[in-house]
Amino acid sequence: MRRGIWLALLFCLLWLAAAAWPVGAKGEKEMEETKRLAVVTADRVNVRQGPGVPYRPLANVHRGEAYRLIEVKDGWVNIEWKPNRTGWIAARYVALAKETAIVQENRLRLRQEPSRDGRIIGHLARGETVWIIKEDGEWTEVIADGAIGWVSSAYLTAARESSISHQTGIVNASSLNVRAEPSLKAARVGRLVRGEEVEIVEKKPGWYKIASQTGLDGWVSSAYVQVKGGQANEKEAEAPQSADRSLLSAIAPSDSRLYVDSWTRGPVQALAGKTIVLDAGHGGKDGGAKSADGVKEKELTLETARLLKNKLQSYGARVVLTRSSDEYVPLSARVAMARLYQADAFISLHYDSADDQQASGITVYYYDRFADYGLAQSFEDPLSRLAALPFRGVAFGDYYVLRENDRPSVLLELGYVSNRTDAATVATDDYQEAVTTAIADAVRHYFE
Ligand SMILES: [Zn+2]
Repeated sequence: MRRGIWLALLFCLLWLAAAAWPVGAKGEKEMEETKRLAVVTADRVNVRQGPGVPYRPLANVHRGEAYRLIEVKDGWVNIEWKPNRTGWIAARYVALAKETAIVQENRLRLRQEPSRDGRIIGHLARGETVWIIKEDGEWTEVIADGAIGWVSSAYLTAARESSISHQTGIVNASSLNVRAEPSLKAARVGRLVRGEEVEIVEKKPGWYKIASQTGLDGWVSSAYVQVKGGQANEKEAEAPQSADRSLLSAIAPSDSRLYVDSWTRGPVQALAGKTIVLDAGHGGKDGGAKSADGVKEKELTLETARLLKNKLQSYGARVVLTRSSDEYVPLSARVAMARLYQADAFISLHYDSADDQQASGITVYYYDRFADYGLAQSFEDPLSRLAALPFRGVAFGDYYVLRENDRPSVLLELGYVSNRTDAATVATDDYQEAVTTAIADAVRHYFE
């Protein structure tokens, strides 16, 4: 019976492919592929207008970033690189993943081969989010910060990604205006009627950005759209592919009920629909500050950015790093990324230095009293609760990445490398873990 349906679908699909592909027909194939993700595996990859090098580049994507997959064709992958904007990247620079998982063990070994003899190519931290590519026996192939390797499946638990898969909603007003902007004053671009199903692609206080099945898109009052969150998840749980089932048993051998619960409900996705640009200060020829023991600011900021990225992603945010390796990125390029990705928050990460070797602690800087101050303030509470270093407060700072930035932005100085005690503290895993948890909390509170 089931097989019959699949064969029929396949037949329809082939017919569609022959008749109308790729005129944007929402065939079954496309619906299925939209649940998959393309994870970038090279430092910097061009997104082009069409599937080939002659097509104009539209943007760059970076190692470790994940995008909704639309289609794979002739060695090219069509992705949604920005809400509602698609483009093509060369298939050799992407890995396709379907689910994320969270690492349950500190310093989990990442190996080149699915075997205990496989060469160790890195270590993963507890709490880190990885993308699952495939499984082989007790091993799972994952992508972690752009590195691809194998880890023991026993140390992973599933985390449903929903930062990219969109929620569905049902209109529950007899007539609902769709507007160009999230404001009652904005131009009306159309109207929806009760019972219409829409895809929610972005959320702002009081507003949802939607895409309707009739092709309408724009902003509607969130009060008149009922989110089908639970139902959508059940659907996921009902129809796991065989690979998902093996995943299920591989991941939770001791208590699969626990696993199934977290699978069907998923973690709270407090940052779904938000784009956060994380800016690891300095890099490449610009090393930033340096401690007496040789700890370099550019290395600390990158470590913090990577940890933070995982945490924000686990809350459902889309996270973009201004750099993901030891490379020199001009300040103007960092600011440009905030604009390109329409960042809901831009966070620049730094470690401080002063002539006074006693100077110690964490400072949060903002530039714009209106655009940045609210974001800056949300750091006050979580950072002042950190026991490791004193919190010096929120202050005005005339920094390029803040001043030239038209997105909400802050610059965090997370301890003084010029102070011996601070320098020793900030280099520890414990501090990195605690400070990134505090920052992620701050970001969550800001959007709540
Ligand atoms: Zn710095």
